[in-house]
Amino acid sequence: MARYTGPVCRLCRRDGTKLFLKGAKCFTDKCPVEKRNFPPGQHGQSKKAKKLIGYGLQLREKQKAKRIYFTLETQFRAYYEKAANRTGVTGELLLQQLETRLDNVCYRLGLAMSRRQARQVVRHGHVQVNGRKVNIPSFQCKVGDVVAVREGSQKMALLESARSFVSGQSRVNWIEVAADGLSGRILSTPKREDVNLPVNEQLIVELYSK
Ligand code: SF4
Repeated sequence: MARYTGPVCRLCRRDGTKLFLKGAKCFTDKCPVEKRNFPPGQHGQSKKAKKLIGYGLQLREKQKAKRIYFTLETQFRAYYEKAANRTGVTGELLLQQLETRLDNVCYRLGLAMSRRQARQVVRHGHVQVNGRKVNIPSFQCKVGDVVAVREGSQKMALLESARSFVSGQSRVNWIEVAADGLSGRILSTPKREDVNLPVNEQLIVELYSK
């Protein structure tokens, strides 16, 4: 599956907001959004900040969500189509699908410092769902699923540093994390208030429903 492999801080600077793509660095004053809060590129600094309205605003919101969850356009659109075909609030259903991706669940569980790192943990086969190895980052987790680190991977240095990093962060209440921090059970589908991200999903729905 294709994925974005370029510099990620550039994406935050383009959106003018922290998207928390890098883990620990995002919480320090080394974050480029703190130091250089203007668009990337040769003329970024000299460009006048334009007030976004209409299509421009909707597009930025969609790009933000795509970047936060590390999905590309085709897959993101497929999430929207699926949400639009279900009963309920489309924007919330869209976020629900993104939140219950296996890589995001691993990130929320505290197995990685960023969603990008969580994706790598999954791709490298360190994770199992209900006792079976799953290495597909977009795998959709359901209520009742138990996501855990596989036995042979539990001593990985990456996991150790991630666990000490996330111990100071707040956890989500739709996942019950085991005492050892190496597994978790999904208790419920995430609600909008559980998704503490700077995204206005209604604008994304407006963009796609044109
Ligand atoms: Fe974004 Fe984190 Fe880079 Fe800051 S450090 S620009 S929040 S990815």
